[in-house]
Amino acid sequence: MYYYNRKIRTGVIILSHILLVGGGHAHLTILRSLLNEKISHKITLISASTYQYYSGMFSGFTEGIYQEDEIRINLQQLCERASIEFIEDTIDKIDPITKTVIGKSGTTYTFDLISFDIGSKSKAFNQNTIKPNYLFTEEISMFRSSEAPTVVGGGAAGVELALSTLAWRKAQNIKGDVILVSSSPLLTSYGYKASKKITSIAKLKGIKMVENERVEHVKATTIVTKNGMKVPYTHVLSLTGPTGHQLFQSLSANENGFLKVTDYLQHRKYAFIFGAGDCITLESNPTLPKNGVYAVRQGKVLWKNIKHYLSAEILTTFKPQKKFLSIMSTGNKEALLSYGNIVLHGKLPWRLKHFIDKKFIKQHELK
Ligand SMILES: Cc1cc2nc3c(=O)[nH]c(=O)nc-3n(C[C@H](O)[C@H](O)[C@H](O)COP(=O)(O)OP(=O)(O)OC[C@H]3O[C@@H](n4cnc5c(N)ncnc54)[C@H](O)[C@@H]3O)c2cc1C
Repeated sequence: MYYYNRKIRTGVIILSHILLVGGGHAHLTILRSLLNEKISHKITLISASTYQYYSGMFSGFTEGIYQEDEIRINLQQLCERASIEFIEDTIDKIDPITKTVIGKSGTTYTFDLISFDIGSKSKAFNQNTIKPNYLFTEEISMFRSSEAPTVVGGGAAGVELALSTLAWRKAQNIKGDVILVSSSPLLTSYGYKASKKITSIAKLKGIKMVENERVEHVKATTIVTKNGMKVPYTHVLSLTGPTGHQLFQSLSANENGFLKVTDYLQHRKYAFIFGAGDCITLESNPTLPKNGVYAVRQGKVLWKNIKHYLSAEILTTFKPQKKFLSIMSTGNKEALLSYGNIVLHGKLPWRLKHFIDKKFIKQHELK
């Protein structure tokens, strides 16, 4: 059992224990704030790995452009610098009545206020998964060198990883198709223009496309679709969209297992529970896309609201922006940029992506 003295009264200030669970994008924003801010409350970050891996650079790692150390942030070091405690553990149970969580290690942790930023899980057909994100480098290294690597899912993550795998294999002179199975046209949520563009790029670059086929079963060596089509494979990666964590079932999660929060990023019933990023769903906007852009934006509101809640001040609402910039690598240092109706493909979008991604990582490097 991991205890802290609850609510120590020092004069008029009441000190609480803030437990941040998950080193995701929103909590990174809090850690960065804490580098320049002194707060009297006790703060602990518990995350599943010492490192937070940055998905914006997953394609570059797959293609061999970035090394592992260039795409990850050392949470332990960042916490030390921010003068907060770091614990490596995976939280898999919460009891809101006793205000405790239990980790995979078997340890029970107590808190006064808790915030979740633990990302999402993959709707996987088998054991292969890149989530939590510290599993990515090992998984993708096996995937890209397999004989018939197959991605299931035609969204941004699936298309990007299929194309960067193909680019890496071409550079290594590895024969054999990279297969992409999708139940609908690629990138449907990005609009017709982007969907059409990425489909022609994928075909031109040589991805073996299995279009409009919904996967029903993944057997030992074959994928079987709803229409009865059989696709032989050697390694399958399922990227068919995010799903939530079992952990939230005790907190009336939505049907996909996401933690339901108000626009204050706060649980409606248990006001001492907050959350941000992929693991939550906004009650007012349940279809809001799950991506790093929104997770980062939520970080600022989350931190303000945590502090305001503890000092009994008015909370701020999170208002998501309507459009967001998306740049997806298509291999060979080319990328597809999409912003509203604008769709651009080529070297320039990749250079912009490289600049943004490097800048993001640099923000967390400690001199
Ligand atoms: C290939 C790929 C490319 C992508 N590219 C982009 C992109 O370019 N731009 C973009 O905006 N989005 C992109 N995304 C989506 C993006 O990765 C997610 O939306 C984003 O990472 C969500 O951030 P988060 O803070 O919610 O969680 P995450 O970044 O997933 O972080 C969650 C953290 O919590 C930890 N954790 C997990 N479970 C537990 C637990 N039970 N207990 C304790 N700790 C836990 C993890 O180790 C991790 O540190 C991409 C996704 C993929 C798969």
